[in-house]
Amino acid sequence: LSDRLTSTFKNLRSKGRLSEADIDATVREIRRALLDADVAVTVVREFTGKVRERALSAEVSGALNPAQQVVKIVNDELVSVLGGDQRPLRFAKTPPTVILLAGLQGAGKTTLAGKLAQHLREKGHTPLLVAADLQRPNAVTQLQVVGERAGVPVFAPHPGAQEGAEHLPGASAGDPVAVARDGVATARSRQHDVVIVDTAGRLGVDAEMMQQAADIRDAVQPDEILFVIDAMIGQDAVTTAQAFADGVGFTGVVLSKLDGDARGGAALSVASVTGRPILFASTGEKLTDFEVFHPDRMAGRILDMGDVLSLIEQAEKAFDADQAEAMAGKLVSGEDFTLEDFLVQMQGLRQMGSMKKMLGMLPGMGQMREAIENFDEREVDRIEAIIRSMTPGERNNPKIINGSRRARIAKGSGTTTTDVNQLLERFAGAQQMMKQMARGGGMPGVGGMGR
Ligand code: GDP
Ligand code: MG
Repeated sequence: LSDRLTSTFKNLRSKGRLSEADIDATVREIRRALLDADVAVTVVREFTGKVRERALSAEVSGALNPAQQVVKIVNDELVSVLGGDQRPLRFAKTPPTVILLAGLQGAGKTTLAGKLAQHLREKGHTPLLVAADLQRPNAVTQLQVVGERAGVPVFAPHPGAQEGAEHLPGASAGDPVAVARDGVATARSRQHDVVIVDTAGRLGVDAEMMQQAADIRDAVQPDEILFVIDAMIGQDAVTTAQAFADGVGFTGVVLSKLDGDARGGAALSVASVTGRPILFASTGEKLTDFEVFHPDRMAGRILDMGDVLSLIEQAEKAFDADQAEAMAGKLVSGEDFTLEDFLVQMQGLRQMGSMKKMLGMLPGMGQMREAIENFDEREVDRIEAIIRSMTPGERNNPKIINGSRRARIAKGSGTTTTDVNQLLERFAGAQQMMKQMARGGGMPGVGGMGR
């Protein structure tokens, strides 16, 4: 599919301006790419509509070709829907900061609780995990295991469920709302600056579960409610996200299981439908498989933009090649090769830091190779100083540089007359080489190349 996209962009590249037909063709490909990434159909429609509108009204930029312009619009729009700049976690003015996790069963809440706890602990916070999922028999134990791995204490309702488990006598073992409330109270009294409340989920959206999450929310007044969603959820992302947005409300999203092959269309669906930013991404079962969410990277993943972006790169390279060709054309004519050109050439050599290594890989570069292997970068500074100390007349016609001129140039550039002489000799040699190339159509000492 990205091949198709690439070829569409390639077609655009050769045209001077974006026409409506061009845009529509591209938009069709983008629509397919988004559907392929499992972005919800309604979201795809809205998104491509926006892109089309922007592309139609876009000023044709001088700096970008049409394809680059479309890519830029698509990319900008994706990044913007995905949350623009990355939003950090919001901390309460008065600790503890209360973070409530919500989402379907199996979404990755408990795993995320451990990851987030470890992440915060490493940043110098003192989080407390609260096990308010009393639905599944093993949920509390699971959080305790995760907490232990993360090096973060866990507030759990059952005394003795595990050695060292937190327990507040007032907590009613069967009531998740009470556990959550007591957990936060405990965090406050023990001066934990962050509390992460893990909650129960169901396999599908369920009124009772939603009510429980809402009750916990009302009891603990969270600073952040993070909606955890499995990136593999596909087309169901919209209904699920909408149900949680209506039932509990959330301030941010965590995308889990991004290590799978899902292209992450769910990210665009959720962000677009709820307008909530995605804060983190979960990328595996280990505690360290966790990262801060980057909208720009996600944009690339959803559109499989790697190819498209490399196309932009190619376009830029082609542009550079055009310039190089123009330069080469001038050099090959041999006549107009001036000291200025010589300097540009030398500076070009300096820019290629890996030139020596590159040449090492090419066989039979003869004189060129030798010249470059002996090339000293500081030499370029000296050459530049000397050439800058010449008058325009001298640069155009070095033959007029007599003894007194040499002395003046040496003085002005902080070099010696020997340096100036050497430079002029090298230039004469280079000029000779250019003339030879112009006549023979090949690089001296480079047998068989360019034929
Ligand atoms: P919860 O029901 O929302 O609390 O979900 P869990 O945290 O118990 O996770 C459900 C399953 O998904 C577990 O087997 C986790 O190990 C696994 N899981 C969670 N997050 C990720 C993730 O980012 N990548 C992968 N591959 N598996 C995950
Ligand atoms: Mg859980």
